[in-house]
Amino acid sequence: MSETSPKLRAELDGIPTYKPGKPAAAGGPVAYKLSSNENPYPPLPGVMDSVIASAQGFNRYPDMACTGLMNELADRFGVPVTHLATGTGSVGIAQSLLQSTSGPGDEVIYAWRSFEAYPIITRISGAKPVQVPLTAGDVHDLDAMADAITDRTRLIFVCNPNNPTGTVVRRAELDRFLDRVPSDVLVVLDEAYREFIRDADVPDGIEVYRNRPNVAVLRTFSKAYGLAGLRVGFAVAHEPVAAALRKTAVPFGVTQIAQDAAVASLRAEDELLGRVGSLIGERARVYDTLCRQGWTVPETQANFVWVRLGDRTADFAEACERAGVVVRPFAGEGVRVTIGETEANDIFLHTAEAFRKVL
Ligand SMILES: *Cc1c(COP(=O)(O)O)cnc(C)c1O
Repeated sequence: MSETSPKLRAELDGIPTYKPGKPAAAGGPVAYKLSSNENPYPPLPGVMDSVIASAQGFNRYPDMACTGLMNELADRFGVPVTHLATGTGSVGIAQSLLQSTSGPGDEVIYAWRSFEAYPIITRISGAKPVQVPLTAGDVHDLDAMADAITDRTRLIFVCNPNNPTGTVVRRAELDRFLDRVPSDVLVVLDEAYREFIRDADVPDGIEVYRNRPNVAVLRTFSKAYGLAGLRVGFAVAHEPVAAALRKTAVPFGVTQIAQDAAVASLRAEDELLGRVGSLIGERARVYDTLCRQGWTVPETQANFVWVRLGDRTADFAEACERAGVVVRPFAGEGVRVTIGETEANDIFLHTAEAFRKVL
């Protein structure tokens, strides 16, 4: 009998595996990880206490409806519980959104370069990715994205601020775009870095969604709230989208530890957002220093900066690593560098300065 492997869906052929940010090298002199946009601060003591308390019960399944967290989110953001869905990070929810809207023959539009998960999860769904290049200034080209809509379009991602460039779309241009999108196409505002925005002209997606039934907003506890390792995010959307999300979510996906830690984080929001304020201070320092060194860096509203290096990208990333910081290279394009601890940012800036001189 000849052996054949189990039949897998043809859509999976050639889909790249998600590439995580490289960990900081073990055993080096100093090693800081600036490759995954994580929060550099350790968990708050109160959040840690909640995690330790809920860990006592992990022989039991979690509350599948995430009741405590859903109620807390409904209060905090002024939305009905029926407009909320939680998931294993906002990427888990994005995957549910695709599963709920798109399949073979459908099209999904997003900017490029943008978040690396979009092409992967789009292709897993079987839908066709339609990538619309960023403008010369590394900003979403919303006019071109609206022009790319066809009667096969089911979902459009708008990553605001955009990963990896840190650039934003502002209220007027977003409204103009949304006015052009047919009401049966879902627009997903991915706001993973919302808490880092200081530009008052950038709209809060949760305000935008209120009178637009085809808008869904993704938020996460992974970045500003510092819970990346616990995997919890949420979506705000009207029915029937929110209901579809609850239907397609992996049962018991969000652990009780994650649910309780998210509630504790919302209750400690002042302290957490104080830390975000310090990171924003560091962001300004990193940005200003890079500009003074002669780099052209797009203005960032996230906890990272984007440095275009073209052919020198890999060399630059290696230089950073030798100096003690791990950054995120995108071969042939540039590096994304997370704003981290002051010492880590200093190492990056010194490396950038030295590299500039030999460029
Ligand atoms: C980090 C990030 C997320 C968050 O992912 P989680 O699954 O919530 O950890 C979502 N979207 C973008 C654009 C991101 O950069």
